[in-house]
Amino acid sequence: MREFHEQEVRWSACEFDAAVECATIKVPLDYADPDGRRISIAVSRQPAADPASRRGVLLANPGGPGGSGLTTTGADGTEVSWPKDRFRDTELNEHYMTLDVVVHEQSHEWYGNAVADDGEVDSCLSECLASYATWLWDEEKDGVDLDSRYREQVKEHKDDTDWWQRLYRPDKPPGISTYNKGPLALHALRRQVGESAFHRIIKEWPQTRRGTYASWPDFESFAEKISGQDLGGFLTAWFHDDGVPEDAYLWPGDLKP
Ligand SMILES: [Zn+2]
Repeated sequence: MREFHEQEVRWSACEFDAAVECATIKVPLDYADPDGRRISIAVSRQPAADPASRRGVLLANPGGPGGSGLTTTGADGTEVSWPKDRFRDTELNEHYMTLDVVVHEQSHEWYGNAVADDGEVDSCLSECLASYATWLWDEEKDGVDLDSRYREQVKEHKDDTDWWQRLYRPDKPPGISTYNKGPLALHALRRQVGESAFHRIIKEWPQTRRGTYASWPDFESFAEKISGQDLGGFLTAWFHDDGVPEDAYLWPGDLKP
């Protein structure tokens, strides 16, 4: 790994914005195989505008896959520097530069990048999983009781029909329900299939499907295979239907308050 970690990075002014510096670094295509094929990755950097209040290095990856990490389209339609445009707005920063977002985006490494969504309609595959990753983080790091959180959220949103929109349909992307209803659906799935099957599902999914595109129905089949359960009714209620799932699916295991 040494040649990658200690490579000399040559920075120069970016073509699209002289105030930002660009470079190209060499990385292995697969870190599990550092002697295998290597690729070049374009990176950019920008110094703190106010060095006295600098808090450290912020490494940003705009997500993707397929999008540029260097530039984005500005409000006026021109090509602008991605980090410069996005991270200078304090209000946006307060909103989005949180640990939750870091955990969420990091988990896209497995759910979204290692296994990519087949189409926009399959975005629960990346967004529901990445949103639930922040729950897992809270549980692991801070001992948060996720069953209580689940019950509170069900109670809070029970009468809000918009909140319970379906997470998958073959003809339309699910939209923001993947970020709020998604983690609930996965927590219910965890209680439905049990701890050991659930952890196998989320761990083995990116391992077995790595480097491929997958659809949401593929994930459902995988969950059924690993758990050995017929999840048809459960998955329909949580992922294919609008509205609050009926009690048998809303309160699997010991979830019932
Ligand atoms: Zn996401």
